[in-house]
Amino acid sequence: MTTSQQMTIKAAVTREKGGAFQLEDLTLRAPREDEVLIKIVATGMCHTDLIVRDQLYPVPLPAVLGHEGAGVVEAVGPAVTSLNVGDHVVLSYAYCGDCHACDAGHASYCEAFFARNFSGEGPDGEQAIRDADGQPVHDHFFGQSSFATYALSRENNAVRVSREAPLELLGPLGCGIQTGAGAVINTLRVTPGSRFCAFGAGAVGLSAVMAARIAGATTIIAVDMIDSRLELALELGATHVIHAGRGSVVERVREIAGGGVNFALESTGRPEVLRQGIDALGGLGVLGVVGAPALGTEAAFDVNDLLLGGKSIRGIVEGDSVARRFIPQLVELYMQGRFPFDKLVTFYDFADIEQAAADSEQGITLKPVLRQSR
Ligand code: NAD
Repeated sequence: MTTSQQMTIKAAVTREKGGAFQLEDLTLRAPREDEVLIKIVATGMCHTDLIVRDQLYPVPLPAVLGHEGAGVVEAVGPAVTSLNVGDHVVLSYAYCGDCHACDAGHASYCEAFFARNFSGEGPDGEQAIRDADGQPVHDHFFGQSSFATYALSRENNAVRVSREAPLELLGPLGCGIQTGAGAVINTLRVTPGSRFCAFGAGAVGLSAVMAARIAGATTIIAVDMIDSRLELALELGATHVIHAGRGSVVERVREIAGGGVNFALESTGRPEVLRQGIDALGGLGVLGVVGAPALGTEAAFDVNDLLLGGKSIRGIVEGDSVARRFIPQLVELYMQGRFPFDKLVTFYDFADIEQAAADSEQGITLKPVLRQSR
């Protein structure tokens, strides 16, 4: 295709708060300048897609969501230099590449992060997608809107990956998996011999558990409400698991960890669990916060416990990952059998997106991945 053409795609459109993902035929414009057109092979579904569908994060509707896309480069804009047609790519979060945070190598804290990922429009303030009536549909979700047969991204958030790796599996590396693994490796910098606790053993929390094992933590605790997730946590490297509905979580963590953990990660998005995470830290411990509640949510903690214990609370976006480096590293770890994130994944046909969402919400499926037909 030339860069002046547009094409018909099939995409899942969210038209109203909490509504169904409706499959529609839409029109997508051609890539401009540093944009890349991707033929989507598969897209992971993350909890963040669901909280946006439910408008806890206010992306304007109607919108095409989906932000864990993997696929093949179909066409490139005239300014693209580092990607070629046929490359296998994983799509990650969008960033401006030009602010203090981006310059410092921390693009997940880009000053334009919310605008680039959640505004429902491109940097030019326009949508690239039109519906059957010619009306714009909000897009550019995480710089991709990949619940679709094709998606546009920018060159800087399409990460080339090895052709040896199973492309249909890799999409979740672009968000949920790199968030949990990156929180442990890039942000908390969990050390060999340390004590770590994951509050929440969903896709993010279990990725953190796998990363904590790679980092050499010797006590790895996973806390959740779902027994099957706790069983999987043990398989993936947890040394202990705690069911959050049975007894005091904080007491149990402190008992296992001999006074408290060095590092913890909160991925439930619940303020009361965040409090547990702080209380379960030992002296000088650090709690990473990745779980996303509704905007405006507040949480309480004991100030003197934080102060006297020298504890820290650290917000983390996307595992502070430089996606172009970190995603290929995770692919390599997977290929070596040291990061078996495939155990979190259940594949669905794209047409079954509603079933995938329901199974995810009911805790039946950890990480749905929606496959496009070949
Ligand atoms: P998930 O729903 O699979 O995982 C959350 C887990 O928390 C579930 O297993 C659930 O059973 C468990 N849980 C619920 N209540 C609990 C309690 N009281 N105690 C212990 N566990 C409890 O979701 P996910 O895909 O793993 O995402 C986790 C969170 O991270 C979501 O809020 C998501 O929006 C957010 N997220 C943030 C970033 C970021 O960059 N900060 C990136 C991706 C996802």
